[in-house]
Amino acid sequence: MHAPYYSLNMYLQETFGEKLYKLSLETGCTCPNRDGTLGTGGCIFCSAGGNGEFAEPLNADINKQIELAKHRVSKKFKGKHYIAYFQSYTNTYGDTERLRSIFFAAAKNEWISAISIATRPDCLPPEILHMLTELQKQIPVFVELGLQTVHENTARLIRRGYALPIYDRAVQELHEIGVSVVTHIILGLPFETREQMLETVRYVGNSNTDGVKIHLLHVLRGTDLETMYRSNVFQTLSKEEYIDILCTCIELLPKNTVIHRLTGDAPKSLLVAPMWSANKKDVLNSIQKAFRERGIQQGKNNRSN
Ligand code: SF4
Repeated sequence: MHAPYYSLNMYLQETFGEKLYKLSLETGCTCPNRDGTLGTGGCIFCSAGGNGEFAEPLNADINKQIELAKHRVSKKFKGKHYIAYFQSYTNTYGDTERLRSIFFAAAKNEWISAISIATRPDCLPPEILHMLTELQKQIPVFVELGLQTVHENTARLIRRGYALPIYDRAVQELHEIGVSVVTHIILGLPFETREQMLETVRYVGNSNTDGVKIHLLHVLRGTDLETMYRSNVFQTLSKEEYIDILCTCIELLPKNTVIHRLTGDAPKSLLVAPMWSANKKDVLNSIQKAFRERGIQQGKNNRSN
């Protein structure tokens, strides 16, 4: 008996015939959770950079951003094509025409094979969905939704700013226009039990999302989460706890759900806790070891139980 793990690399190879690398780009959007529309402090874990510290600095010309980002990853990636990844803040929260010109310019760029847009489920008004419908006809589009948890108490605590049915509606509307949905969840949010985290994963697995990004909760410098952490009201997960919950998440998710991430990256200069997560190589090796021990193998159609 083994559980399949449908990795992003496997999905990209099957879909595009090659590995694609993500170029982190900027739209210059802010976020309703920061500009005063819903709040000014942002989600309690979100850093001043909108959790997109690896993106290129904002440059009006998207082709220039692509060139700079390509240059930055050129030592690591020797392939030919890329995903234009708009990661920081809420990348559908802005003037639709301005966003249209950015996304369509990226779609026309010869190096770009797909576009991935990170946003909030409550920032997909009809005009944005219409624009994404047209964009999707030019190039494969992924929309990444920051859900983090299905538990309303935690959602209030972290100041997510929208209720769970908004997520369900967004997934449905994005599917109706042919866009792939990737859902972000965070393991280790304050006061959540292991069972609550697994409830989130079960819910997401049943939500028809195409992919999942699983993150470890990072406490970053300068966030309200840091203040909470330093007052000792909650603890971050140990490496063993995280990997155990992660393995169970993989076992619970449908076999065709693409696993885009097994943990998150935090900039070392901002990381307060858990410090074990700074050693990315060790974390990934430990995850692979646990996968072997639990019989979790790459493959989407070979569930034998
Ligand atoms: S919605 Fe995203 S960008 Fe906005 S505050 Fe929350 S994590 Fe940060």
